[in-house]
Amino acid sequence: MRRVEGQVLTIRCTSCSSIFPTFVFSGDTDMATAGLETATSLEPTSVALGELTADEFRAGYESGRTLFAERISRQYGADFVALSVPRWVQGPSGEGLSLEEFRKIFKPASPVYDCPRCGGEAPVISQQSPAEFLETGGQLLVASSIALD
Ligand SMILES: [Zn+2]
Repeated sequence: MRRVEGQVLTIRCTSCSSIFPTFVFSGDTDMATAGLETATSLEPTSVALGELTADEFRAGYESGRTLFAERISRQYGADFVALSVPRWVQGPSGEGLSLEEFRKIFKPASPVYDCPRCGGEAPVISQQSPAEFLETGGQLLVASSIALD
């Protein structure tokens, strides 16, 4: 059993107003999150977590996550897609500020996703732990080979 951690992000499209969840894995090293993947379904709204198969991993990043989403769709009987992040919103630059001033205004870069419904831009509107997400009625589907800390 592989133990994983991460956060559920809720995304809202600025064009069609669809709201949907996705997941970011976190780990101390790239190795800790290698081969982990997530896919999102709009109907019903849910997010699935799992591990790439050996074939999916070998297919390369983009093809592998598409194959993963197709497999998850068959498994759960819904349309899951692997969301992509075409751009990031950078935090404030801190140019001209002292380190102390910069610490007060610092914000990490934030991903802007492609809306799977209309292709619009969908920035992050909230971030929750998996437990908080489940408590608020979120649907989180976790593959049997992994355990969420
Ligand atoms: Zn949209």
